[in-house]
Amino acid sequence: MEQEYEVVVIGGGPGGYVAAIRCAQLGLKTACIDAWRNAQGRPALGGTCLNVGCIPSKALLHSSELYHQASTAFSAHGIQTGGLGIDLAVMQARKDKVVEQLTGGIEGLFKANGVTWLPGHGRLLEGTRVEFTPHEGEPRTLTPDHVILASGSRPLEIGLAPLDGGRIVDSTGALGFREVPRRLGIIGAGIIGLELGSVWNRLGSQVVLLEAQEQFLPMVDGEVGRQALKILGQQGLDIRLGARVLGSELADGEVRVSYQQEGEERSLAVDRLVVAVGRRANTEGLVAEEAGLVLDERGGVVVDDCCATNIPQVYAVGDLVRGPMLAHKASEEGMAVAECIATGKPHGVRLDTVPSVIYTEPEIAWVGATEQQLKSLGTPYRAGSFPLAANGRALAMQVKHGLAKVLAHAETDEILGVHVLGPGASEIIAEAVLAMEFAASSEDLARTIHAHPTLAEALHEAALAVDGRAIHRVNRR
Ligand code: FAD
Ligand code: NAD
Repeated sequence: MEQEYEVVVIGGGPGGYVAAIRCAQLGLKTACIDAWRNAQGRPALGGTCLNVGCIPSKALLHSSELYHQASTAFSAHGIQTGGLGIDLAVMQARKDKVVEQLTGGIEGLFKANGVTWLPGHGRLLEGTRVEFTPHEGEPRTLTPDHVILASGSRPLEIGLAPLDGGRIVDSTGALGFREVPRRLGIIGAGIIGLELGSVWNRLGSQVVLLEAQEQFLPMVDGEVGRQALKILGQQGLDIRLGARVLGSELADGEVRVSYQQEGEERSLAVDRLVVAVGRRANTEGLVAEEAGLVLDERGGVVVDDCCATNIPQVYAVGDLVRGPMLAHKASEEGMAVAECIATGKPHGVRLDTVPSVIYTEPEIAWVGATEQQLKSLGTPYRAGSFPLAANGRALAMQVKHGLAKVLAHAETDEILGVHVLGPGASEIIAEAVLAMEFAASSEDLARTIHAHPTLAEALHEAALAVDGRAIHRVNRR
């Protein structure tokens, strides 16, 4: 009997769908099993990212920022608005349309590339055998040569604030509110907490974030983190650090959260509570016991630098494995695995140049090491930074805060980390990633001509500042 598929991918998020498309481009007969069903019960590709992650959150961040600008910033430009209001149903429908368009787009790409979409559940059996159970129908066994596991992650839940699908929700619930909560509590001032907190704060909620750690965004460069905390606080986000949640209860139509901070027991009453305390790998029901797949202590799949698992011809990518839980990292791993399967020549993905972005206003973007990491490693470095307030384009845009910062090795001048706080930081950071991929020095960046007037000139000036020769500010020597 002719073999049905050479490669079976389990999971159709940015790790899995990209792997499947790349496999098909390279001439491999490929199927992608995906279990996702959207709110209407229809199967949809794109995983967390397209359905309930990156895309819907950015759609709401954009809408809410427009509203916020219209209500707070337009008058300074001489633009008069009257009777400003929010039609949340329209805002949510726009977000849903963006999601539908993009998930439908992946379906189109599958068709165009000849990838077979198998909506339903996938389970790895022994070797590379896979059990596929369609949403409606009987299970059948597929026998590909290679399997790529890309089942992603799901929100972590905590017993102290169990989700009830209405008042206490996870990020998916918080993307779907049908009315603006008057008082919104968020457990966790991490990436999701800050992004979704910003959305609802801009639309009028009083937002309180309870964060267990004493330090705000410990993974972010300290200087950037301190500035961001101040700016977000000024916007109205009430970020309570060192707040240890003790419990929660639903009473009289509100959620009461008790927590401990500065040795005192405190309480918070809100209309809705979002639990955003991290995510965990999605391995439930993914692998039969006889498969013998090795997992790590966090429940993720153990892989080598090239995403190979302990089972020959079985790979795992994306949120399911070590490294940052980011869509672009998942996709890059998917691509690398497809190329490894097709050519037999494995190549890894560099995790030290994966950029991170928090899409608050201002955006927080970074790549590579932070200053505190270099200090603790004892790496000799030089730092150059440049405030956006001294950048012409930023001033024209009414931007008053933010900075670009370059960290370079003190002896070799190789760029070790770049940090940007400001509008457009998510775009500017791409230049820094490219520079680091090419092992550029801060001198290389300093000699690169940047268009004027652009926000990216702040990065150029920060590179000049590494050597104490920024032009548009007084250098500290
Ligand atoms: P996923 O996208 O989780 O996809 C996995 C797919 O596998 C899902 O469709 C799932 O249903 C399916 N599946 C699971 N088990 C099975 C099975 N046994 N059989 C069949 N199918 C299965 N990242 C960014 O880079 N930028 C952002 O701006 C960003 N914003 C985010 C905002 C939010 C609110 C959230 C929650 C996440 C965000 N992320 C963002 C993270 C990003 O969504 C993930 O890193 C990314 O989706 C991981 O891709 P993946 O392919 O590994 O898994
Ligand atoms: P996170 O790890 O970014 O933040 C979780 C926060 O919750 C941490 O600061 C942690 O200290 C805190 N926390 C944990 N337990 C707590 C408790 N009991 N009480 C109070 N605070 C507690 O996780 P997240 O915000 O849930 O996001 C999950 C992941 O999704 C991110 O790490 C990221 O990989 C991905 N994501 C990325 C983007 C983006 O790229 N812009 C956006 C959203 C999500």
